[in-house]
This record gives sequence, structure tokens and C-alpha cells, in this order.
Amino acid sequence: MNAFELALPDTLAGAVSLLDPEDPTIRVMSGGTALMLMMKTDVFHPTQLISLRRIEPGYSQMGLLPDGSFRIGAMSTLSDMEHDDALAGFAPVIRQTMKLLSNVRVRNVATVGGALAHGDPHMDLPPVLVALDAQVVTISPEGERTIPVAELHAGYYETILSGNELIKEVIIPPQHARRASYLKCTTRAVKDWPALGVALTTDLDGDTARDTRLVIGAVGEKPIRVAEAEAVIDGQILSDKTIAEAAEAAAESVETIEDELGSAAYKTQLVRVYVKRALQQVANQNA
Ligand SMILES: Cc1cc2nc3c(=O)[nH]c(=O)nc-3n(C[C@H](O)[C@H](O)[C@H](O)COP(=O)(O)OP(=O)(O)OC[C@H]3O[C@@H](n4cnc5c(N)ncnc54)[C@H](O)[C@@H]3O)c2cc1C
Repeated sequence: MNAFELALPDTLAGAVSLLDPEDPTIRVMSGGTALMLMMKTDVFHPTQLISLRRIEPGYSQMGLLPDGSFRIGAMSTLSDMEHDDALAGFAPVIRQTMKLLSNVRVRNVATVGGALAHGDPHMDLPPVLVALDAQVVTISPEGERTIPVAELHAGYYETILSGNELIKEVIIPPQHARRASYLKCTTRAVKDWPALGVALTTDLDGDTARDTRLVIGAVGEKPIRVAEAEAVIDGQILSDKTIAEAAEAAAESVETIEDELGSAAYKTQLVRVYVKRALQQVANQNA
């Protein structure tokens, strides 16, 4: 690791003011779990790290908003999200996801802001937040903007955030009676990086599915929303036939990319199998 300066601003706006959009060697550090890996493996050589550890405590808090949506401050750790009972009541799929996301040492330190800004396509949380139709609110010298998580990732380790723009919070809209599932397939230990992740939310009106959001992670350059399969599902009863057709549509339409956890053909077969399982799971959930 090279020598670098460490700044510890006490406000998020102060952190923004220290960033230079022309200099990618100056970065904010939240949990530092991804940054440290990149530094130890000589992929990233910072000149300055701006720790967000001392910014306003509100960015480490979460809770229901008056309009019924749920706010999660960007510095909330994955463990905070796992253990927050209000969040578990609002969107149980998040606690379900955390239980199999890496280990408690990582979850105790890694933050939701870092998990979204890092842009690693192999992460578990981004597809879940896309399926929940979440948004991020960002801050930069130009002011604030709201970005759907579905539009945040531009490609492999790339987001649409500018060099001096930071995530301040995540907002999840009311889920009402929507059902949700996240399933991951790992090829080694059960809490390992996913070879595939499938996040699914849908409204079951009676038995008829509406407004389905099906998102696949870890098979491409970013989380992939599968409109072709959603079109098969919406307006239909989640019968064995519909589920099989949707799984096939997903396998046919998602362009998988080989990585160290599996070939493209293997991942296509995982898409087929796990989309089917996720749909079966939501069909069998209690309303
Ligand atoms: C051993 C290990 C195993 C792991 N296994 C898994 C796994 O199975 N599944 C999984 O999903 N993840 C896994 N992870 C990844 C982990 O979830 C990420 O490293 C973590 O979410 C990143 O969060 P952080 O707060 O540590 O980010 P940091 O390392 O602090 O930052 C990551 C990037 O985001 C930027 N950033 C941080 N905060 C903000 C912000 N508020 N606004 C804008 N940019 C910001 C930083 O500048 C940096 O570029 C694993 C990590 C480790 C170390």
C-alpha cells in the first residue's frame, strides 16, 4: 500500500467539498471493506481518503417517513439493516438477504452507501434494492438529486455518480402487500459471493401477479431487470405453467457473462432454475 492522506470531515457536505471530480485518487471511505481490498491488491492507489466515519449521526440511522416510505442513511451498516425491526417489518427480504451476505465481520462494517457506490456486479444488495424500486438521494456541489437504484449502475464497477457526488440516503417506497424473495447460488460456502442472485417482488391481487420486478445479479456487468420474464408473469396466475414460461423467458433473454464462479452457459442454467424457485417461493408465501 502507498502512503496517503486521511481526512475526517464532520459533515457530509464537508466531505463533498474535499472531493475533486478530476482526481480519482481522492475517494470517500465508508466501511472501507471494498477500498481496502483494492488497496491491498494494488488495484487502487489513493492520494487521499476521506473517511465518512465522523459525519452527522443521522446518516447512520433509518426509519419510516411520514409518506410511508423507508429511509436508510448511507452510513448504515449492513448489520444495522439486518437487525432493524422496523425495516424487517417493512421489507422482510432485506433481513433474509443479509443472513447470507458474506460474514458478520463484513456486515458490521460495510455500509449501504458503499455497497451501492462500489458498482461490483457480484453484490447481493443492489438487485434487491432494484426489485424494491428503491432510490438513492445524492449530494454534490450542484445540489441534491434522486436516482432510482435501477439507473445507478452504468457497467462493470461503474455508476452514473459524478466524481464529487455522494450517496446520502436510500429511500424504499411503501411495499404494501407486495411479496418479495431473494435467492442466491454460491459455488463454495453458502455465504460466499453469489454466482447468481435473483431478486423478485410482485403484487399478488388474488392469485394474479401485477407490477412484477425481477432482477438478476452476478451474471452480467450490473444488475439486470428482466422485462421479458416480467411480461410473462404480469396479469397471470402464478401457475406451474406461467412459472416455467417465465423462467424460460429469463434464461433466453438474460445475456450472461463468464466469471471465476461459472461459465456463461452455467449461469444461464442458474437463471432458469433460480427464477423458477423465486417465483415458487412468492407464490407460496402467506399474503
Ligand atoms: C471478505 C469480503 C467478502 C464479501 N462478500 C460479499 C458478498 O458475498 N456479497 C456482497 O454483496 N458483498 C460482499 N462483500 C462486499 C461488501 O458488501 C462491500 O465491500 C461493501 O458493501 C462496501 O461497503 P463499504 O462501506 O465498505 O464501502 P467502501 O469500501 O468504504 O467504499 C466502496 C466504494 O464506494 C465509495 N463510497 C463509499 N461510500 C459512498 C457514498 N456514501 N457515496 C458515494 N460513494 C461512496 C468509495 O469511495 C469506494 O469507491 C464482501 C466484502 C469482503 C471484504
